[in-house]
Amino acid sequence: MLVMENAPKETEHRYELSGGRTCLDFVNTVSGDRAGQPRERMATYADLLAWSRQAGTIDDAHAKRLLAEARRRPRDAGAAHAEALALREALYRIFTGIAGGGEAPAEDLARLSDHLARALAHRRIVRGGPACCALAWSDPPDALDAPLWRVAASAAELLTSGQDLARVRVCGLHDTHECSWVFMDNTRARTRRWCSMKDCGNKAKARRHYERVKQGES
Ligand SMILES: [Zn+2]
Repeated sequence: MLVMENAPKETEHRYELSGGRTCLDFVNTVSGDRAGQPRERMATYADLLAWSRQAGTIDDAHAKRLLAEARRRPRDAGAAHAEALALREALYRIFTGIAGGGEAPAEDLARLSDHLARALAHRRIVRGGPACCALAWSDPPDALDAPLWRVAASAAELLTSGQDLARVRVCGLHDTHECSWVFMDNTRARTRRWCSMKDCGNKAKARRHYERVKQGES
C-alpha cells in the first residue's frame, strides 16, 4: 500500500492548508472566528505535531521522535504547546493588522523575534540543491519546540518580502465574526476574498442569494 508521508492519520484532524504560506496555515488552526465561536484545532502538543506533519514542516520520523519525547516530558511538551499558541496568536495579530492596512504590534514582533533567534541557532548550510548549497535544520532529538522554528522562519520571510506581504488577506467573513483565517491572494487581479470557496465563499454566496430573494419578495 502506498502511504503518503504527509497524509493525516485516521485519528487526527485533517488541517486545511489553504493559506499559501506555512505561517498563515499555522494561524488558521482555529476554526470559526476568534471573537465569535472559535474552535481550537491545536488543542494539544500532539496536534501541533499532526499539523506540522501535514504541513510538511517535519517528517513522519521526526514527529514520532518528538511524540515519544513529549510522553517522557509532558510538562515540557505542555510548555511548548503553550508557546505555540502564543506565537500563533501573535502572528494572527501581526498579519490581520497588516492586511487591514495597519501596523504589526511591537510586542508581537518582539515575540516573533525571540522565536526567530532560537530558530536561526538551528539553521545550517549544507551542500546540495539546484544551487551549490541549501538551508537545512539541525534538529537535536529532544527539541520539543522544533516545529515552531519552521513557523517563525516562514513568518519572518513573509514579513520581510514586500510584494508578497501586500497579498496577505483576511477572510471576507471576518467582518461578520464567522472566520478569522488569513491567506495569500495570488490571483492576478487580486480578487480572492474567501479563505476557501467551498466553505466561506459558498456561505457568502448563499447569503447574497437569500438577501436578493428576500428583497424581491418585499
Ligand atoms: Zn473564511
